[in-house]
Amino acid sequence: MAVILAGAPVAAARRDAIRSRAEALRHDGVISCLAIVLVGDDAASQVYSQRLQKLGASLGVSVQLETLPQTAQTEEVVSLLNRLNADPAVHAILPMMPLPRQIDTDRVVECLDPSKDADSLHPLNAGLVATGKSAWASCTPRAVMAILAHYQIPLAGRHAVIVGRSNVVGKPLAHLLLKENATVTICHSQTADLAGMLKQADIVIAAVGRPKLIGADMVKPGAVVVDVGINDTADGLVGDVDYAAVEPVAAAITPVPGGVGTVSTVMVMETVVR
Ligand code: NAP
Repeated sequence: MAVILAGAPVAAARRDAIRSRAEALRHDGVISCLAIVLVGDDAASQVYSQRLQKLGASLGVSVQLETLPQTAQTEEVVSLLNRLNADPAVHAILPMMPLPRQIDTDRVVECLDPSKDADSLHPLNAGLVATGKSAWASCTPRAVMAILAHYQIPLAGRHAVIVGRSNVVGKPLAHLLLKENATVTICHSQTADLAGMLKQADIVIAAVGRPKLIGADMVKPGAVVVDVGINDTADGLVGDVDYAAVEPVAAAITPVPGGVGTVSTVMVMETVVR
């Protein structure tokens, strides 16, 4: 039986500190404010935005939702970001990804004020994380690290294999794990032998977006498995790991839902009050 690495206790352990910080700021006349930029009708982004609004309300953080239609062009998003960058009442900005296809995502990210960049998407912030000069990486990799720390999973000298190389999850997570002296391998869609790579992992981290891609035959007995994936299927929300098959093999495993996602939203709020 694997240890279940539930997100709830990890999130709970941080919520009080965020609430206190927001209260202290309010006492000094500052109402912590996150602006979410939601372009189009991506269902997952809408759900995530609602969750952040609810969590913000419970922590004393104002969450301002700025929406643009699915047909919006890059310049419209850029001018909205410029307005938010210049607004002293807004402390952090979170553009929901993915943006509609016609939008130039790189241009949008580069136009964010790096000091208000809630998810460390701007190249300056990503570069600081990559060079080990900042631990304020994107919220989801930080959530993974918080779970591993909370459950006292040793990292130094252990082999972590990450599946997925996105700028918002896989790559920053690799840098955070390296900083903790793990040996890190990143796999992706062109990896020749995914199962062979995963079989070598002490720690498996799945950030792919393919339901149940990782089965029991791909995981070394006793490995720690962290499932970042969130896939909306006919069976409900499932991760990238076949939980029922892998749980008996793993030493510890995050559930989906109730794992990484539960902590990611709290990490967003931690960034806002910082
Ligand atoms: P993404 O940008 O689409 O990246 C997916 C990565 O998976 C890419 O690097 C891709 O490889 C790789 N990949 C795709 N198919 C593969 C395969 N068959 N074998 C090996 N690698 C494969 O996704 P993302 O934004 O990183 O998100 C990944 C997952 O995490 C999604 O399910 C998303 O919903 C979830 N997510 C969860 C949270 C949370 O808080 N829990 C937050 C963010 C994202 P290439 O680079 O070669 O294309």
